[in-house]
Order: sequence, then C-alpha cells, then structure tokens
Amino acid sequence: MQNEIRRHMRDPKLVPPERQSLLLRIADQSASMGMPCYLVGGFVRSLLLGKLAKDLDVIVEGDAIELGEALVKKYGGKLTLHTKFRTAIWHLPSTFNLHPATIDLITARKETYKAPGALPTVKPSTIDDDLRRRDFTVSAMAVRLDGDHFGELLDPLGGQDDLKQKLIRVLHPRSFVDDPTRIFRAVRFEQRLAFNLESSTFNLINSESLAVFEKLSGERIRHEVDLIFGEENPAQMLARLHEVGVLNAFDPGLPIFNDRYSGLIDSKPPEEFGVSQNRILLGYLFWIIDSSIGTVEFISKRLDFTSELSNASVAAIQLKNDLPLLKNAKPSEWTLRLEKIPLIVIYMLWLISNESALKEFLVKWRHVKATITGDDLKARGIPLGPRYKEVLSQLRNAWLDGNVKNHKEEEELLNTLL
Ligand code: ATP
Ligand code: MG
Repeated sequence: MQNEIRRHMRDPKLVPPERQSLLLRIADQSASMGMPCYLVGGFVRSLLLGKLAKDLDVIVEGDAIELGEALVKKYGGKLTLHTKFRTAIWHLPSTFNLHPATIDLITARKETYKAPGALPTVKPSTIDDDLRRRDFTVSAMAVRLDGDHFGELLDPLGGQDDLKQKLIRVLHPRSFVDDPTRIFRAVRFEQRLAFNLESSTFNLINSESLAVFEKLSGERIRHEVDLIFGEENPAQMLARLHEVGVLNAFDPGLPIFNDRYSGLIDSKPPEEFGVSQNRILLGYLFWIIDSSIGTVEFISKRLDFTSELSNASVAAIQLKNDLPLLKNAKPSEWTLRLEKIPLIVIYMLWLISNESALKEFLVKWRHVKATITGDDLKARGIPLGPRYKEVLSQLRNAWLDGNVKNHKEEEELLNTLL
C-alpha cells in the first residue's frame, strides 16, 4: 500500500507538482523537528479514489504552530495563529505559485461533546484520536509525510473497505447527535461521490438526531446549505435531504428544489446583462422561488440569511407574482417596477420565465436617461423643488416608451410639460 500511495503522491494528475514540492518541504521540516506529520481527510479520500486531491489538511503530532514558525523562517510567507487550538494558517509566499495560497497546519487533537449540538471541547492528542473525531470512515484516513514514513497509510476505522463498497459510514452511533451538520455532510458526499449511506448510518438519521437541529444556530445550518450550492448537483442533494427527513425537521413547508431549474443554476449571464454571477445566491433563489412569502420569511429567519440573500429572496417571489400583471405594461412601467430589484433577481426570473421585458430592462431600459438635465431646468429659471424629479422622470419615460426619439422632440415635450 505504501508504495502505491507514494506513486499516487508523485502522480502530477493527482497531486500537481507545486503541491508535491510544498508537501516535501513540510515533510522535511517536520521530520527534522521530530514531529510526525500527516495529510488527512478529503485529500486521502480523493487520492485513493484516483481523483485530483484538492485541499491539503496537514496534521502534526506535536505543535503545528512551532512547525509553522519554522517553515515561515525558512521559506517566508506569514502565519495566522489560533493559539487556543494550536493551529496555524500558513499564507504561502507568492513564489510557491499555489491556489489557494494558504495551508492549514493543525495540531492533532481529541474532541469531546459536552451536549448534543454543542461545539466540541478540544485538547491536543495523537493522530489516532484526531481520526476518531472525524465524520465518516472514508474521511478518517491519514497519509504520513515525514522521513521514511512518507506514504504510510493510517486507516484504523476501515475507510478503505468503505471506499471500495462506496459507503458513507459514521464512526460511532452518537455522531449525528453530537453534530447534526454531519447529516448534511453525509448526504453531500453520498450524492457527490455516488455512494450510499451505510444502513446503520442511515438509521441514525432519526427523530433523536433530527431534534438536535433545534439547538443549532441558523448560521451553522446555512453554512451547510451554502456548501450544497457550491456542489455540482445541488438539486439532487436537496431532494435527498428532503427524502431522509432533514428539511421536514425544520418546517414541512420547506420547498424541494424544482428539478426544472437544476440545469439553469450554472447558466452564465451574458456580458451585456451586466449581472455578476453568484452561484450560491442563484441556488437559493431557485430553491425558494416556488414558495410563499411566508415560507421564505421563515427560512430566512431560521437559516439566518444575510440581508442580501433575504432581500433578494423576497424580491424574487414578489416579482414572480407580479409578472402576469405586468404582461402588457409599457417599458416605463416595467422600469419603475424593476428599478430597485437586484439585477441577479431579474436575471433569474428571466431564466425561468423567458419574459423579454426582463431582458430589455437589463440590456437597455435601465441605462436610458433623458438628455435634458437638472441644470437645463435651472437655466430655464424653474425654481428648485420636487417638480425637477417629476419632469425629468416624465422625460425619461417618454424616451423609454418611444414617445420622444431625439433631443428636439424632448425639448418640445419639455415645453408642453412646463
Ligand atoms: P471536501 O472535498 O468537501 O473538501 P473534505 O472531506 O476535505 O471534503 P472538509 O469540509 O474540507 O471536507 O473538512 C476536512 C476534514 O475535516 C474532513 O475530511 C473531515 O474529516 C473533517 N470534518 C469536517 N467537518 C466535520 C464535522 N462536522 N465533523 C467531523 N469531522 C469533520
Ligand atoms: Mg476539504
């Protein structure tokens, strides 16, 4: 096995060369300090599956901060320290040419949960304990890096067997009660990897563990939903969460992601729309769009939506409800209705409704201005006041609706208005 892993670690398709050299530097440094050092979690899982191993989570038995300080002294860059947990984030010098340009250096630790859903109590420990605090067997393996141990696989909990059988299995029966966000993670990995929830793990998603969600902050839960919208297949994941009862645990009215929309989530807004892509925000909008305002207000509160997300969600539903009423509206009426709505919401409703006025607004109408300005009105001796805004918007509306087509016609209209 060790030889096979060594080969994988040197395979540029699995570990790109810049990362290999970073790992060797960390390995050498930790060996010279006598600190056993490991890669854990997603990296090992991907490596054994023969996939590109993305994040590097480095665990040391000893003190990650001391290791980080030695690395910075030798190679440069900066450290952010979390002294309480003895972890460090190494911001790599730009010469390393790595993205992301940081790496987590973590002191092996043991975690205990004082109460269901509470954050764990942490103390430094061995790699074995560190693997036991993790979520699933397939993510609880480590590959050792330092010295002659390079490429040794630690798999005390049966991760390799479960990888072969494509199973997501928790490490102990209290796992979901300790931390029910792991239920989201379990479903996310199951769907991402096309694995199955192992049957006793599946049975642990039950009323006892689901009840613990009540104790979790909205922010912790939303973080999990954010991660889902960062995945390739969010619709499938949300459907599965619904199926196993997680979404119902919050509120039976919570929507299921409508499959019709799953193809749209990655559509890139055409440049001329001036909308910047925000996949996560778009994901939420597709998720809630067929719900009632009441449900959306509930989710927004329970998941502690940011004000951007909450405003966009409410605006999306209101606009969707208004679309039939706007059907025969003039461009100026559309513009009045759309002007205060986030562009991404308008883009999203265009995607699902194909309403050409939404596209016109994004591409053209929102840029239309009267050529006559406030200064012109002043030059005509009109006293400053609310009349300015009124007149200018009437001129703009005339442009929008095609009632004036050039400056001369606009001047004529102004004369009539005055
Ligand atoms: P990904 O490919 O999504 O990055 P990952 O397995 O690396 O998958 P991360 O969220 O990056 O997942 O977390 C890194 C590691 O930390 C995991 O492999 C897992 O061992 C551990 N971990 C993360 N969240 C939890 C949790 N809630 N409970 C227990 N262990 C966790
Ligand atoms: Mg990861």
